[in-house]
Amino acid sequence: MFEWIRRKLMQRLNVKREGMQKYEGNLCPNIQERLEKNKLNSRFCIAHYSWDAEYEMDCGTRVYVVDISRRICTCGSWQLSGIPCSHSIAAIQRDKSEPEHYVDPCYSKEAYLSTYNYTIAAMPSEEYWDSKGAEQVNLPKIRKQPGRSKKVRRREADEVRGTTSTRKGLAIHCKKCFRPGHNSRTCKFPIHPKSKFYKVMMLQMLEIQVVMLQTLEMQGMM
Ligand SMILES: [Zn+2]
Ligand SMILES: [Zn+2]
Repeated sequence: MFEWIRRKLMQRLNVKREGMQKYEGNLCPNIQERLEKNKLNSRFCIAHYSWDAEYEMDCGTRVYVVDISRRICTCGSWQLSGIPCSHSIAAIQRDKSEPEHYVDPCYSKEAYLSTYNYTIAAMPSEEYWDSKGAEQVNLPKIRKQPGRSKKVRRREADEVRGTTSTRKGLAIHCKKCFRPGHNSRTCKFPIHPKSKFYKVMMLQMLEIQVVMLQTLEMQGMM
């Protein structure tokens, strides 16, 4: 398996390197393709020179600001990808420069070739390897520590204890107050307005009020 991967890599590095050496352009083909697409879209933008290397790009529905020297466009695409967007291409062309000069050097043919510059050396089988006479490396011996071994995981100093008492191991939350670490039976906090206990409590209070009103009525006091 490992041998197979090594050979595949050896082959792949050569294929990539040779393919690129034959390639004429200065940029990687897929990057050039993307640039051409942006160039095509750049015709919808009208450049207005501001100052220094800054342009205001009127592109129909939206206006972008391009700074050629800092290589940024307010659309964010140029600084993110390193490839001039259609807005900045329009500005670059207005500046009478080539968009290709503004593509990040990481997409150049040289950068590509330097990536694939490494070779994996051919290797003979094990019988032909040099023996350095070094000592063989063994696994460390496992020694049993004295005392009964711990059953519960040792917790961090700031780790909350006993909040994972559900069967699924999730932290429990109180259904009355929505706080973690206890349940509704042992709750000592005020009831949360979104809890179902709150509705029940309000209904009970209403009922009490109704009963009180009824008794008052019966006594002829209202
Ligand atoms: Zn842009
Ligand atoms: Zn509670």
